[in-house]
Amino acid sequence: MKDNISEKTHWHLVDTTKRKTKLYTDLPKAIEREELRLHYQPKVDLVTNKVIGVEALVRWEHPKLGLIYPNDIIPIAEELGEITSIGNWVIRTACQQNKKWQENGYTPIIMSVNLSMQQFTSDELVSTVKGVLNDTLLSAHYLELEITESMTANVPATISTLKRLKSLGLKISVDDFGTGYSNLAHLKNFPVDVLKIDQSFIKDLIQNPIDQAIVKTIIHLASDLNLEVVAEGIETSEHYQFLKEHKCLIGQGYLFSKPVDSHTFIEKVHYIESGKYRSLG
Ligand code: C2E
Ligand code: MG
Ligand code: MG
Ligand code: MG
Repeated sequence: MKDNISEKTHWHLVDTTKRKTKLYTDLPKAIEREELRLHYQPKVDLVTNKVIGVEALVRWEHPKLGLIYPNDIIPIAEELGEITSIGNWVIRTACQQNKKWQENGYTPIIMSVNLSMQQFTSDELVSTVKGVLNDTLLSAHYLELEITESMTANVPATISTLKRLKSLGLKISVDDFGTGYSNLAHLKNFPVDVLKIDQSFIKDLIQNPIDQAIVKTIIHLASDLNLEVVAEGIETSEHYQFLKEHKCLIGQGYLFSKPVDSHTFIEKVHYIESGKYRSLG
């Protein structure tokens, strides 16, 4: 019998087809085996340095393959029909964690949860979210759901779902904004609260005038539509300075913190609110 470490090494070396097969076989058992984790990334007010929100990002701690990231998990879960149970686990765990932080006396912050296409278009979503809020006793005020432009193709259905979700009292944000070729005319009819500028526009922001133009345009659009605007993928103090100067006042990114477990998150909040990140990056 091999020890745990050499077995892990072995699985890291297996070819990608074998790895993929293993992911497909094991994913349906991941929840009951308690292998799913949420990592948390702070959302920061760029003016005050206060952490005003947090995004929950799912990971799968596979006993043999190590930590698996959402780009591997979500497509497989959708294909296997496991996305609803995983998505429900994510919403519940994120709300429980946010309630726990509040009970431990931390300043309340808004928890953002990503929805998949199948979750967003499912009839059960609204009652599931309502049930989780009831069970966890988290005020809906502290929950935000993230959708992407590609989920909004069916305009009447989108408006109806968004209205029912918003009537629960939560916030809606449009993730990866600017990458989805969405019909801007529909945006005014969607009851959303936040536009999240996609990280692909932030990456080369300082060198690339086209990215600068796109980012400034999204900031103005959000302002004119009375929406909040958040930048994701802030990695350097130059990104931070540019966004602040152009009045994007909320941001997320490695400059502040990578997504981390719930305990490390609290340490990161103290670090960020001390303003120390400004001298780094
Ligand atoms: P997203 O919602 O746009 O999340 C941002 C992604 O960018 C995360 O990757 C995060 O770790 C990463 N990121 C954050 N800051 C930086 C930065 O400064 N630089 C760079 N290079 N990357 C940064 P992650 O965790 O791998 O998630 C990827 C995507 O998977 C997410 O993109 C989201 O669309 C999806 N996802 C994550 N968790 C869930 C979930 O629970 N349910 C569903 N349906 N989708 C999820
Ligand atoms: Mg997101
Ligand atoms: Mg995004
Ligand atoms: Mg993304």
